[in-house]
Amino acid sequence: MGPRSVIRHRYDAVIVGAGGAGLIAALEASKRCRVAVVSKLHPSRSHTGTAQGGIGAALGNLETDNWQWHMFDTIKGSDYLADQDAVELMCQEAIEVVYDLEHMGLPFNRTPEGKIDQRRFGGHTKEFGKAPVRRSCYAADRTGHMILQTLYQQCIKQEVTFFDEFYLLDVLIQDGRCSGVVAWCIATGELHLFHAKAVLLATGGFGRMFSVTSNAHTLTGDGCAVLFQRGLPLEDMEFFQFHPTGIYKLGILITEGARGEGGILLNGKGERFMQRYAPTLMDLAPRDMISRAIYREIREGKGIEGKDYVYLDLTQLDPEIVEKKLPDITDFVRTYLGVDPIKNPIPVQPTAHYAMGGIPTNVHAQVVIDERQTPLSGLYAAGECACVSVHGANRLGTNSLVDIVVFGRRGGRSMAERLHALDWPTLPEDAVARTQETISHLCESRGEESVARIRTDLQQMMMLHVSVYRTERGLKEALAAILDLRDRYRRVSLQDRGLRFNTELQEALELGCLLDLAWVTTIAALSRTESRGAHFREDYPARDDVRWLKHSLANLREGEIVLSEKPVTISRFQPQERKY
Ligand SMILES: Cc1cc2nc3c(=O)[nH]c(=O)nc-3n(C[C@H](O)[C@H](O)[C@H](O)COP(=O)(O)OP(=O)(O)OC[C@H]3O[C@@H](n4cnc5c(N)ncnc54)[C@H](O)[C@@H]3O)c2cc1C
Repeated sequence: MGPRSVIRHRYDAVIVGAGGAGLIAALEASKRCRVAVVSKLHPSRSHTGTAQGGIGAALGNLETDNWQWHMFDTIKGSDYLADQDAVELMCQEAIEVVYDLEHMGLPFNRTPEGKIDQRRFGGHTKEFGKAPVRRSCYAADRTGHMILQTLYQQCIKQEVTFFDEFYLLDVLIQDGRCSGVVAWCIATGELHLFHAKAVLLATGGFGRMFSVTSNAHTLTGDGCAVLFQRGLPLEDMEFFQFHPTGIYKLGILITEGARGEGGILLNGKGERFMQRYAPTLMDLAPRDMISRAIYREIREGKGIEGKDYVYLDLTQLDPEIVEKKLPDITDFVRTYLGVDPIKNPIPVQPTAHYAMGGIPTNVHAQVVIDERQTPLSGLYAAGECACVSVHGANRLGTNSLVDIVVFGRRGGRSMAERLHALDWPTLPEDAVARTQETISHLCESRGEESVARIRTDLQQMMMLHVSVYRTERGLKEALAAILDLRDRYRRVSLQDRGLRFNTELQEALELGCLLDLAWVTTIAALSRTESRGAHFREDYPARDDVRWLKHSLANLREGEIVLSEKPVTISRFQPQERKY
């Protein structure tokens, strides 16, 4: 089988992905041109909707704060790998964009005087690291949900056209210009060809590479993988963040907001162990440091009952604050663990959470294809799939929501402004040939391998060797295993060979993306012989600025990955030792 009919569309701008980044880009672009949003999920099911803790902006509503401090914290948090020009823009524009969201109707929590309330979060400080500051603007522990709903409503009002449950299969690039995308309608199995002057990818992250993750099942990095297969680079893929507090074994996230409200971490001896690792910020140190500290405690036999988890303790907090400001996570813990967090501590372990790396872009969200930052005409990316880079080697909490709204909006604006000067690009003659071949191959294969088995093997292996602690030996083992899994993937066979709602086919396509991205992550991690941010090499435990204060780029060339480097933009803050 294989879909035969192709339905054609023409829009000035096509945005793939309807999370926070895609929706705000669509909203902005739709003020100036005809926009379509293509999304494999209904917009309100996008992962942005699960963001709990908040969005960082130096509003200074409860105590003095300014965007320069936010900028410093972000750069220090990134272990000095973030591009400082991009961070500067982000921290400045965060303030305006939070007020814009408020004016669109986002129901933030309020102070008694009616201002947007703010709470503490990991790595966010006043006066360049002196003490924690209240910077995270939040709507209980449903901030992302509120952002998504607010933006979706505005897009409907603006008459943006949505193609819901359409799966991106290919981005058409020819002679240095993007001319559109090919998507597959999940309900009918038909192929749709979108001819566009500009395309923006906002397809989110890929935490599903790992077995313990906070990420939804759909976070398989499709946009990143498609561009990688098309020969475009991916940047800083060795940096994947583990959030310290996932529910034990399940990976479901307990927001850092819980520690922002006063929750603490305890080991099996009942010690507040973060005191030893980060004397100033303690439980509000950045995520990379806390995740490593938890692993270390566990290795030293100081997990709870000697096992591989620690406690997040909220029992000393005012129960009313817990119920009111953290209602969803309280509910999760009661439902999934049968534990009441008001009375008992919560068993937690680090969980794969956030991709710092992704599609390289400049501050206008234009996709750039080399170390000289050459933009590819008509192609944009924003949100977690992109790498601007504002998070460098480690992202601070609340900064992804800032990133998606600031750079999503910048992307929507710049694509709309630029496209009036552009002619319609020519579509390649064989625009859907590649996609048809991929789908036919998967549907017709009579191999003996199953998608679920390969995926489980991949996730367990990544967790074992490519997670918080890494070594050359482990990474080499991982690489060999990935090559083997890629080989097995060529022999997968599907039981459902039909066209309609073929979720088995969708999962097979998603697994192909995960295998590509895991491969790039492992090769980049093997190459970087230093420790920086979320990338910790036990065999190279120190940061090495002389050799490695550089972004990595990975390209697919004739079936092999070729790595190269790109300079880091440093403006105001010179790299320093990172103490908290
Ligand atoms: C549990 C959790 C809590 C978090 N809490 C916070 C927080 O408090 N603060 C913070 O700053 N960050 C937080 N983050 C991180 C942050 O939420 C995400 O990084 C951010 O929301 C990503 O937004 P996005 O728009 O880039 O992608 P997403 O919201 O993930 O949306 C991706 C979109 O791409 C579409 N898509 C993907 N593949 C395809 C395809 N093949 N074809 C068509 N469409 C496709 C999907 O349908 C979806 O609409 C949290 C993350 C998680 C997982």
